[in-house]
Amino acid sequence: AITLSHVSKFWGALRAVDDVSLTADEGSLLVLLGPSGCGKSTTLRLIAGLEAADAGTITIGGVDVTHLTPAQRKISMVFQSYALFPHLSVAENIVFGLRVRRVSRAERDERLKRVADIVGLSHLLERKPSQLSGGQRQRVALGRAIIAEARVCLMDEPLSNLDAKLRHEMRTEIRALQQRLGMTMVYVTHDQTEAMTMADRVVLMRDGRIEQNGSPEDLYNRPATAFTARFIGTPP
Ligand code: ATP
Ligand code: MG
Repeated sequence: AITLSHVSKFWGALRAVDDVSLTADEGSLLVLLGPSGCGKSTTLRLIAGLEAADAGTITIGGVDVTHLTPAQRKISMVFQSYALFPHLSVAENIVFGLRVRRVSRAERDERLKRVADIVGLSHLLERKPSQLSGGQRQRVALGRAIIAEARVCLMDEPLSNLDAKLRHEMRTEIRALQQRLGMTMVYVTHDQTEAMTMADRVVLMRDGRIEQNGSPEDLYNRPATAFTARFIGTPP
């Protein structure tokens, strides 16, 4: 599980993340939802260790990681702009992190085979990113994240560059993958449809604070505030 306990991050006077406590259960998918600027990415970066918390505690798998480096936290992350290396092939892009971490060639090849199959890229391994569609590029980024075999995967609006049809397909695939591999995932989006269809638990944020935390059904059927009702009820 991932647990945040009274975590805050301030930029000068701005309370970007303000006393946030939440838990993503082991093997579950938690969506951080909310309008632009509410603190979703900052919260994710705090979990990843890319930002240092000003207050509070973060644990992953029961270990206090608050003061650990990103590498020590053993997480993988997919960003909104999933920068691939343009000069490397699909296969090379996927295994890049393993090479950096000096995983043996045989082990790399074996994992690549498995992961390429999972993300449906087995037939495209020799292509360059420029020869792929947006959805295929997104799968490369996804493959790169899951080949690390991290128990925790963090995604920040990974589908925001895709058209509606691909977004729909990919969110189904990501959810299936998360369940199949039993990953603990924190998934950031401002798209309520994505949140409602993918999440085990939704944390709705507003101005750095948690507005409501519950199952998709809770937020939809029992909104605690007018803000939640408006945010969940408004079509994208
Ligand atoms: P979006 O949906 O637009 O991506 P978000 O919910 O991810 O928004 P954050 O990126 O977490 O929002 O930003 C939260 C607040 O913190 C915003 O007001 C933002 O301007 C501010 N902020 C983020 N990073 C910094 C920074 N490095 N320095 C100063 N302010 C920052
Ligand atoms: Mg963001």
